[in-house]
Formats: sequence, structure tokens, C-alpha cells
Amino acid sequence: MMNLNIDEILDKAKEMVDVAAKKTNDAVEVSKLKFDLSKCQSELREIYQELGKKVSLKSRKILEDDVEYCSLFEEIDEILERIDALNVTIADRQNLLICQRCGAKNRVDHLFCSQCGSPLKVRAEREEEKQEEACDGCSCGCSENEEPNDESKDQ
Ligand SMILES: [Zn+2]
Repeated sequence: MMNLNIDEILDKAKEMVDVAAKKTNDAVEVSKLKFDLSKCQSELREIYQELGKKVSLKSRKILEDDVEYCSLFEEIDEILERIDALNVTIADRQNLLICQRCGAKNRVDHLFCSQCGSPLKVRAEREEEKQEEACDGCSCGCSENEEPNDESKDQ
């Protein structure tokens, strides 16, 4: 009778330990599953990102007429312009020139890109080109455009 009771108690104790162990295992399992889940989600995000980039490059002409997408394309363009401007400013501060063909950074005293061999433009030439590009009206390089150049734009 006494032995049986001890056995029962031991069984009960063992059961409780098992339940606790199972709970711990479940918690470990859940955090592992959550980790796998967030890994899958971030992989999916990256694929969507890549897909979005490819689709927007490939079907821009069709999509940008669509009201649903046109504002997104405008935002992308604005951000790309800002990235370009920041890269140029950073390169200027570092006394480097960014190759307009491949984007490689070159020393200012280099005439050709060390990466692709394209002729590098010095800053003065770039400014000149900017002003020419600003004229959409008659494409002669005059300044009949309403927005003369980037410098006058307020952010
Ligand atoms: Zn280059």
C-alpha cells in the first residue's frame, strides 16, 4: 500500500516533469518556428523587391499610364535622383569622380574610368551639361525652361 503510494507519487512527479519538459520543448519549438517564419517572410520580401524592380523596368511604359502606378514611378524617380545627387556630392567631397557609364569612383585627376575606360567628365563640364539638359523647350541649350537647373529647386 505504502509502496504503491510512493510509486503513484513518483509517477505523478515524473508526469509533471514530462509536462514541464514538453512545455519547454514547445517553447523552443515555437521560437524556432517563428525564426523560420520570419526567414521565409524576409526571403519573400526580397523576391518581391527584385520582382518589383524587374517588372517596373520592363513594363514601365505600360504601367506608368496607370493611375495606380504612376505616382510610384514618380517617387522612384525622385529617390533615384536624390541617390545620384548624394553620390555625386559624396564623391566631390572625397575628391572623386563618378563614371557616368559604370558608376565607378575615380580620382579627379584621371581622364578615363579605371573600370570601363570611358572618358571622365570634370565638374565644370557636368554643370554645363546640366544646364543644357534643363532646356526642354527648344533643345538648343538656351535657358527658356521654367526650371533653370537643379540648384534653384527647394527640397
Ligand atoms: Zn566607368
